[in-house]
Amino acid sequence: MTDTQSTIQHFAAGQSIFSAGDAADCAYLIQDGQVAMYSPGAEQPLAILPAGEIFGEMAVLDNSPRILDARAHSDCDLLVIKRSQILDRLEQADPVLRTLFEVLLSRLRSQVAPSLSPASPRYSAQETGTNPAINVGLEKIRLEADLLTALEQDEIQMVFQPLVNLKTDRWAGFEALCRWQHEAIGQVSPQEFISLAEETDIIVPLGIRIFEKACEFLHRLDQQANEHPPFFMSINVSARQLAEPDFVERIGAIVRQHGISPDRIKLEITETLMVDYQQARQLLQPLHDLGFTLSLDDFGTGYSGLQHLIELDFHTIKIDQRFVSTMFENARSLTMINVVTDMAANMDIEVVAEGIENAQQKRVLQALGVDLGQGYLFSQPLAAAEALEQLAKAR
Ligand code: C2E
Ligand code: CA
Ligand code: CA
Repeated sequence: MTDTQSTIQHFAAGQSIFSAGDAADCAYLIQDGQVAMYSPGAEQPLAILPAGEIFGEMAVLDNSPRILDARAHSDCDLLVIKRSQILDRLEQADPVLRTLFEVLLSRLRSQVAPSLSPASPRYSAQETGTNPAINVGLEKIRLEADLLTALEQDEIQMVFQPLVNLKTDRWAGFEALCRWQHEAIGQVSPQEFISLAEETDIIVPLGIRIFEKACEFLHRLDQQANEHPPFFMSINVSARQLAEPDFVERIGAIVRQHGISPDRIKLEITETLMVDYQQARQLLQPLHDLGFTLSLDDFGTGYSGLQHLIELDFHTIKIDQRFVSTMFENARSLTMINVVTDMAANMDIEVVAEGIENAQQKRVLQALGVDLGQGYLFSQPLAAAEALEQLAKAR
């Protein structure tokens, strides 16, 4: 039998299944018959378990010896659940859920077998600080709480990275990117805290705050730069936000408040979201209806067929930075950029290339007809004041 296979074992009435003190290498699901659980040496069973019950799982999860005796109460068939079948799943679970689970298990064990609690260190309070699995979960719980506090205290900052018109070499707009300087940890990468925010509901108020700040900045740009055509603002939107029933209404109200025409806001939606095409269509339609510009972010990283993208009516396609960074080493990257620019030109779709870091990349992308470029070659993301200062200098 391999480690992951389940097997049925048969026990005759009265036969021992395991005894207190035995090593625990599996749990059991009772397929047929009944199993009696006894405290060691007791005559009367603590419990008689019918078909459908699972037993013996606690010692496996707890990585400790059996604490009760188990005997077949009648003839019975037991499905063996191997240790690895249980632990592999636990390994894959979300760290927060795992921590909560382990804490619960520790509490349960101290009730079922108080005498064993101090000796089962994996779950005792003193030991949680040294258990890596629990630590990861606890850190995540703390980070989540800190993120909520940061949001309440308005500590999430915005930076704005210019997008350059590759025909005129002038700044055409900005992408709003958020930053979190955690007082103990330092900069937390947006990938990390945005995905944390997406796992919970924090992304909803955070997303609205980001939207407000980006619109405030665009309004300031209008007042100070008076650019023609006016600057646009790209704002990243996550799936969880799109699914929020009043999202569209709220962002519509924000742009109105700031006197901004919605077509100047490019909502960046990542390609990986377009997997469920029908759902994507439903979510995007109200944004189209309100007049927002839709930009397909990270293009080339998802699995969406081109046809679907066309039908979803994106105004802009943003080629993922991995194609730009490998365009000279990997012929496929260049081919892909070529195909996308050709197709987009025929359909009046704007193409943006991100992650442009050197002049050679810029030249080739320009020659291929890419409309807008973004990357460290032009500018890092800038604080609002810095961006305004640079604009003033450029005049
Ligand atoms: P993204 O939307 O693909 O954003 C582009 C990322 O590439 C940004 O990283 C930007 O700083 C970085 N970048 C810009 N130019 C270059 C370059 O020349 N070379 C390289 N190597 N990188 C460049 P950042 O700011 O760390 O953001 C990472 C991701 O976090 C974003 O990827 C986006 O998915 C997410 N994110 C950031 N801000 C927000 C936000 O306000 N809302 C949401 N929902 N997601 C956000
Ligand atoms: Ca983006
Ligand atoms: Ca991107």
